[in-house]
Amino acid sequence: MNNAKILVIEDESAIRNLISTALQTNGYKNDVAPNGSTALLSLSTQQYDLVLLDLGLPDTDGIEIIKKYRTFSTTPIIVISARSNDNDKIIALDEGADDYLTKPFNVEELLARVRSTIRRIQYSETKKTEEVRYFINGQLKIDYVSQTVYVSDEEIHLMPIEYSLLCLLAKNVGRVLTHRYILDKVWVNSIESDLSSLRVYLTSLRKKIEKKSNEKYIQTHIGVGYKMVLIKPTDAEVKNHE
Ligand code: CA
Repeated sequence: MNNAKILVIEDESAIRNLISTALQTNGYKNDVAPNGSTALLSLSTQQYDLVLLDLGLPDTDGIEIIKKYRTFSTTPIIVISARSNDNDKIIALDEGADDYLTKPFNVEELLARVRSTIRRIQYSETKKTEEVRYFINGQLKIDYVSQTVYVSDEEIHLMPIEYSLLCLLAKNVGRVLTHRYILDKVWVNSIESDLSSLRVYLTSLRKKIEKKSNEKYIQTHIGVGYKMVLIKPTDAEVKNHE
């Protein structure tokens, strides 16, 4: 998706220009919005593939933009914010942001996030047209019909709760899922203290799926949640999918 179109929402002109130039240099078309009202106008009239959003805007809180945008679009949003508080990240993610980057940030890191998010959009678009029986990510394979998990073609035995956790992360590959979101989806009638059991099951799941492979599939966002990383497919796998 070389012609991906990105909206950059940022009030500080120096940062806005830095991001816009970096995107342009890397072949991404982009529009910029210096405040919330311009951003909402662009978002409601244009089609974007990705949105980069600063939370601290002069006229609107970025969280409000996420809320409004999510009523009509599923386009990925990466939050770029000076707010390093875990709670702000959690609110942004729970309202529907996909990922976040804390300021000051490194441009290379931002471009890596942009690339991986765009790769994920392409991936889910391919999946839409394929049978949804299998989830394949690097050496990890889930067969949803037989509820079997393989790593490097070897079957991995998971407890039902580990399997549910893995499926939830897989269905949201590339997205940071907050602890609360995971507990609500996987635990029945979850309570606050379930966070420690989530950690236990997650650790055991990670051990099982990462033992047979060098890949790190599950990323920990300390104080926030977890994300399954979309492993870059090898050329051989890309050919298989063609
Ligand atoms: Ca700002």
